[in-house]
Amino acid sequence: MELAKTFDPKTAEDRWAQLWIDRGYFKAGSTNDSPDRDKVFSIVIPPPNVTGQLHLGHALNVTLHDVIVRMRRMQGYNTLWLPGTDHAGIATQNVVERELAKEGMTRHDLGREAFVARVWQWRETYGRKILQQLQRLGASCDWSRERFTLDPGLSRAVNTVFVRLWDEKLIYRERALINWCPRCETALSDLEVDRRETTGSLWYIRYPFADGSGSITVATTRPETMLGDTAVAVNPDDERYSDSLGKLLTLPLTGREIPVIADSSVAREFGTGAVKVTPAHDFADFDLGRRHNLAQISVLDTHARMSENAGAYQGLTREEARKRIVADLEALDLLEKIDPHKLALGVCSRCDTIVEPMLSFQWFARTQSEPPSGDAEPLAKPAIRAVRNGDTTFHPKFWENTYFNWMEHIHDWCISRQLWWGHRIPAYTCARCGEITVAIDRPGQCAHCGGADLKQEDDVLDTWFSSALWPFSTLGWPDEDAPDFKTYYPTSLLITGFDIIFFWVARMMMMGLFATERVPFKDVYITPLVRDQFGKKMTKSRGNVVDPLEIMDRYGTDAVRFTLAQLSVQGRDLILSDDRLAASRAFANKIWNAARFVLMNLEGAESDIRPIAEIKDQLTLADNWILSKLDQAVDEMQRYAGKYQFNVAALVVHRFIWHELCDWYIELAKEPLRAGGEEQLITRSVLVHCLDQLLRLLHPFMPFLTEEIWQTLRPYIRELNVAPHLAIAQFPSVPDSGVIGLRLPRWLDNDGQQSMVKSLIVAETVNSLRSLVSHHPGARINGVVRFSNPDDAADFGTWKSYAMTLGKLASLNILSDSQPRPAAMIFSPFEWGEVGIEVPDGFDYDKARANLKKKLDETETHLQRNEQRYANPGFRAKADPETVEEIANNIERLKQEGKTLENQLATLG
Ligand SMILES: [Zn+2]
Ligand SMILES: [Zn+2]
Repeated sequence: MELAKTFDPKTAEDRWAQLWIDRGYFKAGSTNDSPDRDKVFSIVIPPPNVTGQLHLGHALNVTLHDVIVRMRRMQGYNTLWLPGTDHAGIATQNVVERELAKEGMTRHDLGREAFVARVWQWRETYGRKILQQLQRLGASCDWSRERFTLDPGLSRAVNTVFVRLWDEKLIYRERALINWCPRCETALSDLEVDRRETTGSLWYIRYPFADGSGSITVATTRPETMLGDTAVAVNPDDERYSDSLGKLLTLPLTGREIPVIADSSVAREFGTGAVKVTPAHDFADFDLGRRHNLAQISVLDTHARMSENAGAYQGLTREEARKRIVADLEALDLLEKIDPHKLALGVCSRCDTIVEPMLSFQWFARTQSEPPSGDAEPLAKPAIRAVRNGDTTFHPKFWENTYFNWMEHIHDWCISRQLWWGHRIPAYTCARCGEITVAIDRPGQCAHCGGADLKQEDDVLDTWFSSALWPFSTLGWPDEDAPDFKTYYPTSLLITGFDIIFFWVARMMMMGLFATERVPFKDVYITPLVRDQFGKKMTKSRGNVVDPLEIMDRYGTDAVRFTLAQLSVQGRDLILSDDRLAASRAFANKIWNAARFVLMNLEGAESDIRPIAEIKDQLTLADNWILSKLDQAVDEMQRYAGKYQFNVAALVVHRFIWHELCDWYIELAKEPLRAGGEEQLITRSVLVHCLDQLLRLLHPFMPFLTEEIWQTLRPYIRELNVAPHLAIAQFPSVPDSGVIGLRLPRWLDNDGQQSMVKSLIVAETVNSLRSLVSHHPGARINGVVRFSNPDDAADFGTWKSYAMTLGKLASLNILSDSQPRPAAMIFSPFEWGEVGIEVPDGFDYDKARANLKKKLDETETHLQRNEQRYANPGFRAKADPETVEEIANNIERLKQEGKTLENQLATLG
């Protein structure tokens, strides 16, 4: 069997992705049933929104998941990677509302039931697109266990948790001020409100004293809400107002009387030091109003139009009302002045409408506040403890500080949303007694009076409520005996972006600990942020967003995956560039060509290949060396991937394949392969073994390419019960020495290692001299080597054929201490002595030196320029951190280049 001349990613990807799924290889507990209870590895996917379209963040996330999951599966773990999607309440509702708008309709035209049916229909048609895109990436999820947050089982988990929280008094209902989107007509959590910097105005308005003794001027950014004022507040230490405290003011335009009160939260420097207090329309005023028992007068309705409490202004929009009120105040001579004022407007993260603080009945979960009675503690407390105790560990560890910081300053979580798409709150109000009954299934009667006329709450739960249960609701909980829950919970690892630590990770911790009394995952790996080649964040407005599907088409999925893994340095941003992608594609081609070379040399040898164990005594130094390098790669790849140091794991595999195997061993193998007989047979067997093992090692990074090659190699593999496909083949392993971190030197002792390293370094030195004096790359030339220590020379003599092969030398004489350097040769020192090669006829030293000197000058000029920039404090204060880092890297690189050029100049003499 032979491999095609070049690798065609497209056909290989489609073929293998489908075959692996058809064969059920990714089904947990089926192919690799392990009797060992400790050998379970489980992970749940961060469920993408049903509205989702694959972006680079997903591609990175899924790649890193798949590297770990495929490795664990091949290592014989009972491995589960559970996929699924999130109903994404407000996001999905908005998508379908936009569709309706095109037909000239709103959701109210359809009514709740028909609208929800329409969203389900949308979900059936489009909701799996994102999962198909994950399959294209090679994601080895157990597709038979796909879940959706609105599945019946998951909905049951939602209701169960809600009821338990209610019973523990960890859920309460309260009239409170919340962020309200007047367009979406729903409450929003703080996290769903974006801040937009803008320049508004500060209006200075005179409020006359009721007794006619003058007035107080207040400064406000929102004159239209003054109709809901219930006090004017000043700082108790502000002497300007000490005489006014307790007096009454007449609220302009309404005639209502309001008191002047003192509260230490008032900033004396803001405006006039006197502020209007509008508890129904401002968060700070809401708290202040509670402290002073002020009335809450809501003057806006749910569409942000002026309500009946706004008197003559009823029915106006916020903007119209503001204009009218300002004009009316001016007419009454109550407007003192208007100043420009910078402020951060809250806007809805889904639809960009200005958010209104709104007074309404909402449901809250006690993440922070103590319940009024009972033994339960607020949800954040155990979640903080679990990370402090190390039950759950973040990688990189510094994210734990972010987590603690947020959890320690958390507010109670507003869990109700006035949407139609989502889990409807399982609370029922009795028409007879007005009490609330909370139940998993619709109750037949009121728990308080037995009345049968019950109306379910209209609100649905915040979409993150169900996502918070994802690690166990997907495994069969609340049935504690569900086999999946018993086997796979708690999960082993969570991989996610830092942007949802609060939205999701923190809430999973809280809900997991509440519902199951165990942490939902042992490790949390926070993925790096992907930036473009200039270190800039990828945003639509910059136009630098990379579409993963497009680069998968261009470079092949394996190359994209390898690049993302290779660039995932813990705690650093990931800088993606075409160069890196092209390098990964070149790497894929290098492997393909090496495999083709090996397979071509196996023609007709199928029955000759021996297991390595059988030919152990016949191996050459080079054979033993490559096998020991393979051991090292296996050991390091597993260790680093196990610590989620994906970049190092990828580097280890890359180094072994590119340098040790392709550059060195395969070159050395050519001669014994030509020699025929026993020598050829041994080399063939070693090549088969190395290729087989490296494909297994590389499979988690590049599943398609490796499977494609491995299928062709498979008939030569000498293993009992060799797997039908690489996806479920056994992962390479190194015998344990019993001492952590210490490998057994299975193949080479120290002396052997040294001998090989000397040959390689001599060859490398020869090759850099070759390019310095511009020998034709294919030319066979003469060389010499001199060792400072005569013992080294004796040993080297045994193995010098390696250095000759790799350095393409016609001869290689070993000079003794006393022998002079031969004429017409150029020398370079190396660790154990010096190496020389002949100089080509007519080589112009002066010209070569001049060339190098010119390069060196250029490098130094560049270096100086970069160093000056870096040293300039003005530049460093202004430039963004990426640019500063780029300059620092330039300096490092230029210094290195300068050193190399100086060495070369010295060599030329
Ligand atoms: Zn909105
Ligand atoms: Zn009742």
